[in-house]
Amino acid sequence: MRPLVAHIDLDALRHNYQLACQCAPHSRSVAVIKANAYGHGALECARALAADASAFAVACLEEAVTLREGGITTPIILLEGIFSTDELAWVDEHRLWMAVHSAWQVEALLAFSPREPIPVWVKVDSGMHRLGFAPEDVSNVWAQLSEAPQASSLHLMSHFATADAADSRYFQQQMTRLQALATTLDAPLCLANSPATLAWPVSHGAWNRPGIMLFGSNPLETATPATDSLRPVMTLRSEIIALRDVEAGEPVGYGGRWRAPRRSRIAVVAGGYGDGYDRHAQDGTPVLVNGQHCPLVGKVSMDMFTVDVSGVADAVIGSEVVLWGRASNGAVLSIDDVARHCDTISYTLLTGVLPRVPRRYH
Ligand code: PLP
Repeated sequence: MRPLVAHIDLDALRHNYQLACQCAPHSRSVAVIKANAYGHGALECARALAADASAFAVACLEEAVTLREGGITTPIILLEGIFSTDELAWVDEHRLWMAVHSAWQVEALLAFSPREPIPVWVKVDSGMHRLGFAPEDVSNVWAQLSEAPQASSLHLMSHFATADAADSRYFQQQMTRLQALATTLDAPLCLANSPATLAWPVSHGAWNRPGIMLFGSNPLETATPATDSLRPVMTLRSEIIALRDVEAGEPVGYGGRWRAPRRSRIAVVAGGYGDGYDRHAQDGTPVLVNGQHCPLVGKVSMDMFTVDVSGVADAVIGSEVVLWGRASNGAVLSIDDVARHCDTISYTLLTGVLPRVPRRYH
């Protein structure tokens, strides 16, 4: 068997969910597990959280139906609502909750006869300018839905553009608009994503919507005691499959991007962009070889990449290589560190792990 495996630590997932709840003791936490639980396996993660989580959030009907067919009975909210009118029958059949962000969705709901009223979260565009009703249109939508027998349990929902940033000015602007609306409508709120759950108690509502923090990544620009307590859920682990010594000045890999500054021991690791490991990983991107930090050198190939293991005396064929997560000796390589070296974010690395990589649940 090829040694590259994504190990998923379900205890760490439960721990991180509890941490999200502790950060916001007066809110309930919707566990956001869209995009196959950020690459971790939605059904396995939902089953692991089912006893604790108050609700799950997914992007679309297909994701929700997969959970229901897998036996998940916890409330599930569709973050983008329906994409076409005929989805309402499925929403009804599977007892889903739905966001509404557009007039046509409200019209479709008002023309539909569900068996039971559908819990509806009205999405307001408070500044992200992606989805949602303009603040001045919300009162009208709210009034229509409040009187509609098709809708129940109305909430006001919005999404922050900059809750992760140290500069809080735009976040404060969004908050001001939302507080004004919440007061006018006397609406229960669902606003906070992971960074707001971690850093902005002012945004904590009846519900919060943490996603990435459940998987152990810190979305903030700095560390806090709470982010230091997050545990990595995915460990992407492989092995050295070949070793060679190269002379000073010799290039390694496609294009010869990296040249050995001195005689160097190069390990070839199973794992490449054909597995979802980022081809933009720069020279110096960290990996753990036998639990010891080593730099990636040379361009990532489809099925393998190369690492300078000159400093690891016990590196042999078969040695453990951790691309991110926790090594057998307990050392942790944060996915956020890896993402910085790839000029990306942990979200793309996690959702980018391809089906070719087997997931093993512990
Ligand atoms: N709510 C909405 C509407 C989202 O789109 C997302 C993620 O993209 C989240 C919540 C969770 O965000 P995060 O993963 O940053 O916690």
